[in-house]
Amino acid sequence: MRTGVGFDAHRFKEGRPLVLGGVVIEGAPGLAGHSDGDALTHAIIDALLGAAALGDIGTHFPSDDERWRDARSLDLLTGVAALLNARGYAIAHVDATVIAERPRLSRHVDRMRTALADAMGIDRSRVSVKATTTDGMGFTGRGEGIAALAAALVE
Ligand code: MG
Repeated sequence: MRTGVGFDAHRFKEGRPLVLGGVVIEGAPGLAGHSDGDALTHAIIDALLGAAALGDIGTHFPSDDERWRDARSLDLLTGVAALLNARGYAIAHVDATVIAERPRLSRHVDRMRTALADAMGIDRSRVSVKATTTDGMGFTGRGEGIAALAAALVE
């Protein structure tokens, strides 16, 4: 068994939808980024690549590559899951925390779990998503953007 950790943060950007864990969420601007800005999915991708010691998201999907402009991050996650499977790894568990002062995410967590699990081709009982704030402190507390942490276990 091998473990990996991932972290990502993106700033808010007006005029695009907020996508977290592949779910479009109303109530806040979207996140800047070469892809759809889905910081949660990016953190999970880095956790999975870390567990397999296969580099990071920038290695596989460079932000200066036009192929990944406005890419759906869930599709990138599907690609990474396939890469791990091809190397003989099975994804045993993913646990993630989204750090955001706004919007309130708790009622969206179940849909995120389903979307992420489907993208990785695993049962949703193997995917955990949590949401927290930083109590007004730091860049997430000031509402400048959203951060995410993830841990992955692969067998
Ligand atoms: Mg990112």
